[in-house]
Amino acid sequence: MTLFRGTFLDTPDDPFTGGALRADSDHALLVEDGVMTARGPYAELRGNHPGEEVLDLTGGLVLPGFVDAHVHFPQVRVIGALGLPLLDWLERCALPEEARMAQASYAAAVATDFVRGLASAGTTSALVFGAHFAPAVDALFTEAARVGLRVTSGLVVSDRLLRPELHTTPERAHAESLALAARWHDIGRSRYAVIPRFSLSCSDDLLAACAAVVDEVPGAMVTSHVNENPREISTVGELFEGSSYVETYARHRLVGPRTVLAHNVHPTDPELRLLADLHAGVAHCPTSNAALGSGLFPMARHLAHGVRVALGSDVGAGTGFSLLKEGLQAYFGQQLLGELGHPLTAAHLLHLATAAGAEALGTATQVGDLSVGKRFDAQWLCPAEGSALEVGLAHAEDPAEALARAFALGTPADVRAVWVDGDLVSPAQTDREPDEQLAAVAG
Ligand SMILES: [Zn+2]
Repeated sequence: MTLFRGTFLDTPDDPFTGGALRADSDHALLVEDGVMTARGPYAELRGNHPGEEVLDLTGGLVLPGFVDAHVHFPQVRVIGALGLPLLDWLERCALPEEARMAQASYAAAVATDFVRGLASAGTTSALVFGAHFAPAVDALFTEAARVGLRVTSGLVVSDRLLRPELHTTPERAHAESLALAARWHDIGRSRYAVIPRFSLSCSDDLLAACAAVVDEVPGAMVTSHVNENPREISTVGELFEGSSYVETYARHRLVGPRTVLAHNVHPTDPELRLLADLHAGVAHCPTSNAALGSGLFPMARHLAHGVRVALGSDVGAGTGFSLLKEGLQAYFGQQLLGELGHPLTAAHLLHLATAAGAEALGTATQVGDLSVGKRFDAQWLCPAEGSALEVGLAHAEDPAEALARAFALGTPADVRAVWVDGDLVSPAQTDREPDEQLAAVAG
């Protein structure tokens, strides 16, 4: 058992429906076998558990581990290609790199970069677009399991309009997906996701094969892209004879409570109604939307229709792994929408980056906040001495102000340590220099 001492911030009550930020200073969490079994003022818990090891995380903020609801494994090395709209960016930047994943040794090296990127940013769970090649997907799951992250991923499938080497057939997609799911679904912290790249690159026969995999892998998730860019949307409309983008998936039973569709920047009202009726989630990816000029996310319309929204980094169109940055960009986007925007507080941003993601990924009973009974997936934000964030935290009037400053100024460099199930993930297992203070306290 370990007693974690610090300032804990989380959002067990949804701020989008009136909940407030929970902020407890000089508190403690007792963690036993990865589960939080007691929570309260430090002095009180210490008195009840005088013999337990104490990990002192005062002097920063302890947040739930982030949940990234949309991120691409093969794209970590192409982050930062600016200046192109979606379809040109795919053709010139993303897809050539995705084709390199055919080589297993290359994919394994990228998997190391990718998983380190997630963990270093404080992300403990992620719904990950895998690769178009099964051995590369194995490499991702292998590395995620080694480091200890909760990764839901799978084979990305397409059978048209990308590049020939990225195309599969419905039969091959079905067989390879089932084989991967047999190796990884519900194994440790890994789960399988069925991933048609987007209906632009997927025939009806391939989408039907995806539905068959969902039927054969109980509990599998489904993820894809939707309504990101006007040119993409009009092409999908032509390919599917006027069907709405959401319907292209829904008519194959690929939209449901275990579905997360990324972007949805340009939905129609009927599509929002359909997503709400089918209890699907949407991953909002604000830096990607800004970098590709895709548009400003209509969050208020999603909320008005009752569509669940989480946050995704969308690396590599997104500009990094940090959900602090995504949260800030989400805030900017809603500000820029003026009266059409949904004003976001720091509590909203934390909720989007944690509990809303857990909800979208179907893991909210286990993770997403720091309540007794849940798994201890957490991160310690502790800025470097003299940094603007350190100054900001030291002079914040209250926890909500401190949290807003963390979103405004925080980066992966401020994430001092990360735990999944109470196990230290970073820095110990991600090749960073061991943190002397943590090592000393942890014994
Ligand atoms: Zn994406």
